[in-house]
Amino acid sequence: MVMDPVTQSLTELHRRVSALRGGEVAAYIPKLAQADPEDFGIALTSMAGRTYQVGKSETRFTIQSVSKPFVYALALTDLGPDEVLKRVGAEPSGEAFNAISLEPGTGRPANPMVNAGAIATTALVRAGSPAERSRRILDWLSAFAGRRLDHDEEVYASESASGDRNRALAYLMRSAGSLEDDPHEVTDTYFRQCAVRVTAADLSIMAATLAKGGLNPVTGQRVVAKDVAVRTLAVMATCGMYNGAGQWLLNVGLPAKSGVAGGLIAASPGRFGVALYSPPLDAEGNSVRGVAALTEMSERFALHLMHVPVHLTSTVTETVTAARSSRARSAAETEALEQDDRRIVVIGAQGELEFTETEQFLTEVMSVLPTAPGGLVLDLTAVTGISPGPATMLAAAVANLEQRGLLVAVAVQQPFLDRAECRPGAWTTTRDAAVAWCEDRLLERGAPR
Ligand code: GLU
Repeated sequence: MVMDPVTQSLTELHRRVSALRGGEVAAYIPKLAQADPEDFGIALTSMAGRTYQVGKSETRFTIQSVSKPFVYALALTDLGPDEVLKRVGAEPSGEAFNAISLEPGTGRPANPMVNAGAIATTALVRAGSPAERSRRILDWLSAFAGRRLDHDEEVYASESASGDRNRALAYLMRSAGSLEDDPHEVTDTYFRQCAVRVTAADLSIMAATLAKGGLNPVTGQRVVAKDVAVRTLAVMATCGMYNGAGQWLLNVGLPAKSGVAGGLIAASPGRFGVALYSPPLDAEGNSVRGVAALTEMSERFALHLMHVPVHLTSTVTETVTAARSSRARSAAETEALEQDDRRIVVIGAQGELEFTETEQFLTEVMSVLPTAPGGLVLDLTAVTGISPGPATMLAAAVANLEQRGLLVAVAVQQPFLDRAECRPGAWTTTRDAAVAWCEDRLLERGAPR
């Protein structure tokens, strides 16, 4: 069987990093100490929803702290960012995962990635009872994974029996006024959340869902709103790797989250989600092989967020200097439309219109303008997204061209038609309708009938 190039590259990475020794399997939750230190799996899910796997990528382990960003996303969805920020900060603490990281005065935990903040975040998940809260969290994590997940009851029981430090953190928060719920109940829900069973393959899909702006690339389901996905990734980038977070952003430059069972995820926005599983942990509590593999991957594929982005496709697809619609026209009309000052220029664009793409596209538009009162059709039917800023730039350009006496029609996908920015010019959903609209107006302007 011929191996695809992605699996091949992951296989080589796996082989190189497997040789790495060192680190300790977490033992403070007794059941976790039974993990096999040799287990090592890598999985990567692309934006097209393809999952590539190597090694122990189907081995089940408990999600532990990798659950934290996802539950944070749930709290953000339930309460909105302002309300959540009042209860849980978003500043890297630079401290260990189980530190007593509470803001002096308010008792607000530093961020949702350290235990105190994660416990407070779990308490924000809307529910009428602890059982309902656990169920909602499990449903939520399952939607990210694209399959029904379950709990590892033994790990849950083991953490519950040994989880006094986390209970102490919860009691401390309640005494400081930053936790309203019963500390015992909240930590129990938190232990259940940490005991959700996943594989590296599951985690890669979960990370890919964040990387795709909240859209699960495998199931096609929108799991979380775009702005929530962005906030979640931002907190992962600054606080995801505990006291190793600064160094991580320096070396790897990707939003990531690790867990004490040996799981580690990273999201490369717009590219893929990746997950690693290898139980031995470094002094910061991050998987030794996971960190090594991601560091290497980031270097080899230039994934660091601060790299200048590469524009993979050109925005302008084509320019047609004398376009005609499919409408039947009389001989006289045809003759009228063939006159040079009734020329209709079509210029097409594709992909996402961010600042750079829009600036390029509009520069191109200015270089192909017909003479007034000719028509100009901006065919944006292959455009998949327009941010508000670029949409305003586009509308301003259309208004400006109209002032110059040109007829301007814009063809876009249906959802864009409803947007407030779509005012000047004529907006339709097909290129043909846009060209026909220009033809009709040109004929009205004194052409023979
Ligand atoms: N359940 C673990 C704890 O609270 C999660 C910690 C982690 O994965 O880093 O201690």
